[in-house]
Amino acid sequence: MSEEWWKKPIRMITLEFPGADIKKLNVRKVVREIARLGANVINVFTISYWPGGAAYYQSRIASKHPDLNDHDPLSEVIDEAHKHDIKVVAYVNCLWGNKSLYEKHPDWAQRKLNGQPNIMEPTYTSVAMCPNSSYRDYLLSIVEEISDNYDVDGFYFDEAAFTSWCNCTNCRKLFEEQIGEKLPKKSDWSDPIWHNFIKWRYDCITNFKKSLYKKSKKKNRAIFFQHAFPLAFFPIPAGLSTMLTAHPELSGMLGSALSEMTARFPIELVNWYIPQIYGSDLQAVAEFEDVIHFELYRRFVQRPLWWYGICARLGRSVGGGKPVLILNMQGNSPFDLVSLPEEELMLAIGEIVANGAQPLFAMYYPDVADRRGWETVGKCFTELREFDKYLTDLESVKFAAVLHSQKTTDRFDSDAEKTRHVDCLMGICKALLQEHLLFDVILDKQLKRDLQNYKVLILPNVSCMSENEKEIVREFVKNGGGLVATYETSMHDERGNVQAEIGLSDVFGVNYLGHEKKVFSYDSYMQIKDNNHPLTQHLSKFALIPTAGTQPVVKTFGGAKSLASLIEEPVVHYAPLGEDTGVPTIIVNQYGKGRVVYFPGSIGLRYLNFGLPDHRKLIAEAVKWAANCPLPISVDNCPNTIELTAFKQSRKDRLIINLVNSIRDNIQKPITHVCSEHNIQVNIKVPEEKPVYRAKLIPEKADLPCEGRKGSVSLKIPELKYYKIVVVEKGQKE
Ligand SMILES: [Zn+2]
Repeated sequence: MSEEWWKKPIRMITLEFPGADIKKLNVRKVVREIARLGANVINVFTISYWPGGAAYYQSRIASKHPDLNDHDPLSEVIDEAHKHDIKVVAYVNCLWGNKSLYEKHPDWAQRKLNGQPNIMEPTYTSVAMCPNSSYRDYLLSIVEEISDNYDVDGFYFDEAAFTSWCNCTNCRKLFEEQIGEKLPKKSDWSDPIWHNFIKWRYDCITNFKKSLYKKSKKKNRAIFFQHAFPLAFFPIPAGLSTMLTAHPELSGMLGSALSEMTARFPIELVNWYIPQIYGSDLQAVAEFEDVIHFELYRRFVQRPLWWYGICARLGRSVGGGKPVLILNMQGNSPFDLVSLPEEELMLAIGEIVANGAQPLFAMYYPDVADRRGWETVGKCFTELREFDKYLTDLESVKFAAVLHSQKTTDRFDSDAEKTRHVDCLMGICKALLQEHLLFDVILDKQLKRDLQNYKVLILPNVSCMSENEKEIVREFVKNGGGLVATYETSMHDERGNVQAEIGLSDVFGVNYLGHEKKVFSYDSYMQIKDNNHPLTQHLSKFALIPTAGTQPVVKTFGGAKSLASLIEEPVVHYAPLGEDTGVPTIIVNQYGKGRVVYFPGSIGLRYLNFGLPDHRKLIAEAVKWAANCPLPISVDNCPNTIELTAFKQSRKDRLIINLVNSIRDNIQKPITHVCSEHNIQVNIKVPEEKPVYRAKLIPEKADLPCEGRKGSVSLKIPELKYYKIVVVEKGQKE
């Protein structure tokens, strides 16, 4: 591998020792086994989460694992792995200390609001430590020890994070010194100190990560940090979380139902966005880390498999070309000793690779690992190894951009009363995936840098926007860019203060009438009034379709057109519907050279929750109409379980098209059945009058005939079960 080895495709396995019998474990044998499976990077435990802070090497600083004796698994792994040309990354847990460390330094522990430490279990075997205490210097000295004494190729810093409020003496003192106020004890968004507190928590962790980076970075060494669960929340029903926030004492009564999520997090944080709990500032850390890395255990947060790809897209945009590594489930969680079925594992790897990211799996019990799943992983890894050249230097084919607004999520998504921006985004993304439209997910901080690369921007309930961001969107549309926006988009300023008028009302072509129309029942419909428009032409005139939910009441002005209006709900389910309220529910507008669609309801959330095909079609048609250009790539005869992605390899003048059969609704249970699909046609827009192109199907390495017509090339994929890559290049077959 070249100097910056992490820029080549990574296939990585973490060796987790806490559950293994370390006295008997033959780590050299395990490494040889991992080499056989086709992995090229091993992430080996050096500092553990359980027992907290235990060292799996001969440390003079950290307490060694009680069963270690004279053993040095780290040096054995490095020696054996390097013989097989496998890179070794040192896993360092940056959160958990043990009982004796806690007893010696009780002021090092993170504290919940009630002042109690955060413990993994009642024996205090693992206690969460605070990076604002001297634990930080202690940990840095351990990192230095590993860095100086072992030939590691990188560091993996896990859980460099808050897992508490944190209401420890160090945090209270530091906050007062830096912000000049007392550390707040309750969430209050009307108080500027609260805004400062949330930002301060992010900054503390970013600085902690910076210090870890500085201590460990060397030439040829990759440094990366766990970013936990982006675009996800703890799956607590809104009503329950409101109740628990008001009455935390009730949490004990709910027992095991809550134990999985409250084992590591105090009850006062259950409503928070997960990266907000951790203080994980994706963009700030991406500025210096070498690899963007997400931990995506989907069952834990009740997300579908395609969420991996959405996160990968976000990571690729944030990283601006840095590799994206995705830790996903290998075990059938919570039974991590048992592998997931082949179908789920094959699709997971396909989903990750198809989104231009790299797979990582954790081997929790290397001595008793379930062979079946690891053989599946090995089969994929060895297959992928042959196609490394098609998996690097990828730049997505730009069509649509879906905006993830960190501001909106921080401000509103932990409020149980509000419709979450992230859920609206997930619903929009699902519709686009199922309709095979190409899109990236960009962060609000990248709007200025990246927006002009796209044909159409999608703002799914992006409530909080700065004046500057609104201006960027305005200019984009004025110059011909398309816009699709939903629900409360631009109704608040960047700090979440509600505005008298919708910020982008001029672009949407509507005025806000100052109140919301709340939808209380599911008998809420909109009636299509104009089906001559491309958005609604698939529907009949006067068709009733469910509304997109609660919405601001608006009226159109200028050239803006309302295609449908809201019908009043019946007094009771099955009673006759009420009157036509005339309130617009789908609005189309021209603003400068650009086309705009505004759905005042949260159509993304509606689609995520109910999956109505009419909503999916509306979202997709809105995006296509607003883009106002031919699709760069389209498919025919392709079921909506299949996801399409496409990348340019600009240095090679190559197009890499991926199809993966991964779109399912399973959030709790693994995918266990996948059908083969046949004769999917892929159409590619090309500039030539008489195009001559060639295509190769991966992994078969089979040539695919390309049919060229003026401005387009078509090819057929004979069969697809899990995933396929199509490599398209100019010219005749070689
Ligand atoms: Zn603290």
